[in-house]
Amino acid sequence: MGALHVRGRGLPDGELVEWWIVDGVLRADPVADAETVFDGGWILPGLVDAHCHVGLGERGEIPLDDAIVQAEVERGVGALLLRDCGSPTDTRSLDDHHDLPRIIRAGKHLARPKRYSPGFAIELEDEWQLPEALAAQARLGDGWVKLVGDWIDRSVGDLAPLWSDDVLRAAIAAVHDEGARVTAHVFSEDALPGLIGAGIDCIEHGTGLTDDTIEMMIEHGTALVPTLINIENFPGFADAATKYPTYAAHMRDLYASCYSRMAAAREAGVPIYAGSDAGSTIAHGRIADEVETLARIGMSPTDALGAACWDARRWLGRPVLDDGAPADLVCFSEDPRRGTDVLSNPDRVILRGRVY
Ligand SMILES: [Zn+2]
Repeated sequence: MGALHVRGRGLPDGELVEWWIVDGVLRADPVADAETVFDGGWILPGLVDAHCHVGLGERGEIPLDDAIVQAEVERGVGALLLRDCGSPTDTRSLDDHHDLPRIIRAGKHLARPKRYSPGFAIELEDEWQLPEALAAQARLGDGWVKLVGDWIDRSVGDLAPLWSDDVLRAAIAAVHDEGARVTAHVFSEDALPGLIGAGIDCIEHGTGLTDDTIEMMIEHGTALVPTLINIENFPGFADAATKYPTYAAHMRDLYASCYSRMAAAREAGVPIYAGSDAGSTIAHGRIADEVETLARIGMSPTDALGAACWDARRWLGRPVLDDGAPADLVCFSEDPRRGTDVLSNPDRVILRGRVY
């Protein structure tokens, strides 16, 4: 493949940027006879979906070909780095598909029996199996693991934590010893103090945040991926839970207060990243919708885009545009901060130096 050339403006600063692409890598110095494939617009590092699932369907595991389609849809909207927040399908072989986005896997979800969506998680009979089970996922993963922090407990009829604080402390320490980070699915208020106090690295959803747990997150440096477009499903979850009125009322309350709680977390300085929660109920390819929704918690258009791009990449330890970095970038002829119509329709998607 011959050398390529792109020229435009970068973000967050709007400075002029110009790159040459050789063998899938960005070069700052001019390369002779390079073909200009984009000129005069915005050039960003590949977008990031910091919470989606490649290899998860409505009932759990899916055929590998379907997982490939999910990843291709993400590439189409310029999401070239995906943090897979737990999938039952083994998608490791997708790393050899150089036409697919890069995936950071958080292994398989860890839960207790009947305490998560059927078919999604490894279910542990004894909660003290968690430290070893999570460490095992860390050894198989890409630097992250995921546990289910709370879910409906049908014996109580409400959301409740799955694990005691001692178990969480041991499990999170075991993962940190493996050099990996831990995140958790959490909807309610009650599961948060145990998780944050145990040193968890990130909270997914986090609709039950309070002033106290926001303060704990600041103290511990915990990140938040709110998946706001999926939280729009809470009223529907409540409507479906006719046998559990306490749970249904709780879900409606969490939904009603969600934007003000997330805004308080943002205001306090909790690092927030964009995740669509695609896979199962949310369709793939919707990171632009999540970016737009982040405005509802007071993020500026530039910060909201950074949460799905340069800021998320730095948080995940992956490169932005730099000399010698992989040529994973998205180009827009209009300002991608103008809205989802622009952001979800990149003019050029370049992955590993190949134009799509
Ligand atoms: Zn999810």
